[in-house]
Amino acid sequence: MSRYWSTLVKQLTPYVPGEQPRHPNLVKLNTNENPYPPSPKVLEALSSVDGDALRRYPDPESNELRHRLACYFDLRPDQVFLGNGSDEVLALAFQALLKQELPLLFPDITYSFYPVWCELYGVQYRQVPLDADFQVDVGDYQIESGGILIPNPNAPTGVLLGLEDIRQLLLNNRDSVVVVDEAYIDFGGQSAVSLISDFDNLLVVQTVSKSRSLAGLRVGVALGHADLIEGLDRVKNSFNSYPMDVVAQQVTLASLDDEQYFQRSCDKVVASRQRLTQALQQMGFAVLPSAANFVFVSPPGGDAASLFAALRERGVIVRYFNKPRIDQFLRITIGTDEQCDALLAALQELL
Ligand code: PMP
Repeated sequence: MSRYWSTLVKQLTPYVPGEQPRHPNLVKLNTNENPYPPSPKVLEALSSVDGDALRRYPDPESNELRHRLACYFDLRPDQVFLGNGSDEVLALAFQALLKQELPLLFPDITYSFYPVWCELYGVQYRQVPLDADFQVDVGDYQIESGGILIPNPNAPTGVLLGLEDIRQLLLNNRDSVVVVDEAYIDFGGQSAVSLISDFDNLLVVQTVSKSRSLAGLRVGVALGHADLIEGLDRVKNSFNSYPMDVVAQQVTLASLDDEQYFQRSCDKVVASRQRLTQALQQMGFAVLPSAANFVFVSPPGGDAASLFAALRERGVIVRYFNKPRIDQFLRITIGTDEQCDALLAALQELL
């Protein structure tokens, strides 16, 4: 604590991301990274970035990539916004759209960054409890609000909300912005992008971090009505004109050029998720139904905290949240089958 800190900074409780250990021999299943490398086309694009491109500032509007994404999602370029990871896109959405007189609504168990942004930007919020099965009940969101933020699938549960439920949520809340955070949608969910033409209050946020194996690149995207995108642009251009560096723009274009590789690597993760789910169930774990690249599981006999620590000692890192309702759960990222086997072997020893 420094006496030079602002009053706001003194009061903040910042988000703590999962550990990024330097040790290469750990089985790292704690931050929902994709276990497979990005497409070879991505690596080619990286090696062809030239010095002249780096010497100059990047295109502040990322026009080439915005046009490409617009084509990919069957939207217009003015319906696409880009940022330095979806964390940045979400942070800008808090400032541009979600800070209103009435409180913002989001689930009680969800991405733990949301309350942190609320604190930073002074956004009032109300957490809506998930039901006993950790599902979002859209009927619970029929409250006057300053906006709704739903991750789909939810994190850290992995539980998916169907497209019809998202449509219902939008129909019930015509007067407030609904942000759907689709960080994990490519692992088995149906994106709400198809609803953008029907709802001018829908903003869909996606990332290349998970399904495109590009967490290290930091590229996130928001898709929605041009007026919502203009709101994001206004904040972006009051904060950082160049959130998307030249490498990020070129590499993301290359990733979009390899749809087949992208689909295959998603399919592999989904197959491993099914295999890991079955194996954990056979060992007595309760496993929530997941449409993401992780599973949220409760160990037999409870005591998830001790199991987390014991796995860590054996070189397997998963994620544990010491929070009400979920303190008996572990979140396990889907690794390669070899990594999943190493996890299962460690669990066999421990249980
Ligand atoms: N939303 C959710 C639900 C997440 O779990 C994450 C990853 N921590 C993000 C957004 C942010 O991802 P990124 O900034 O890498 O795009």
